Amino acid sequence: MILGIVGAEGAKFTKAGEEQARTIIRALLSQSDVTLMVSGGCHLGGADIYAEEEAAALGIPTRVHKPKQLTWDGGYKQRNILIAEDADVVHNIVVDVLPDSYDSMRFESCYHCKTKEHIKSGGCWTAKHAQKLGKKAEWHLVRNYTVQSFVPGNFTTSWKTAPGSSCPRCHSPVEFRLWESQDTAFEDEQYRCTNVLCGYSWWVESSDY
Ligand SMILES: [Zn+2]
Ligand SMILES: [Zn+2]
Repeated sequence: MILGIVGAEGAKFTKAGEEQARTIIRALLSQSDVTLMVSGGCHLGGADIYAEEEAAALGIPTRVHKPKQLTWDGGYKQRNILIAEDADVVHNIVVDVLPDSYDSMRFESCYHCKTKEHIKSGGCWTAKHAQKLGKKAEWHLVRNYTVQSFVPGNFTTSWKTAPGSSCPRCHSPVEFRLWESQDTAFEDEQYRCTNVLCGYSWWVESSDY
């Protein structure tokens, strides 16, 4: 089976996020029927490069499609199509929120996937294109800021406005969602600023049972 692995660029991962991404990638590459890993060699690092490095460490052959030029048409688009065509399944590593240090353009939602649950990535386009070709595609969400990074759990609500709270950085309204560990031992709240240009996000321990 040929795995396509794509996703967010390096600046979109915190150190904890990168660790999660690598853990996910290792698990994907460790499936017994994997014969080849295909990716895009992103010059900005991130998921593509983690995938190359983890594949090399596991001795799995790789095929890297680099863009002919650093533009959408004639470059990234054609590169992404080649990945989708080669792969039997495309795995797209996305992040939930941007690191505080991220200083490029911020978007309110992923316009490829029409969701606010993860940050837009070119990998979303590739994964969607694979689906159009009748291939399988899976999205893997990396949480950049949870302290419970390695504890299994789920978000139990979607984003809701948090009345009476405001962003500590820019004082805009904020929204929050609840996260609960799988064993229900603890529950945390993740907050984020609704001002896209700010993008600040943080966690609050809500309760322990
Ligand atoms: Zn997306
Ligand atoms: Zn803010």
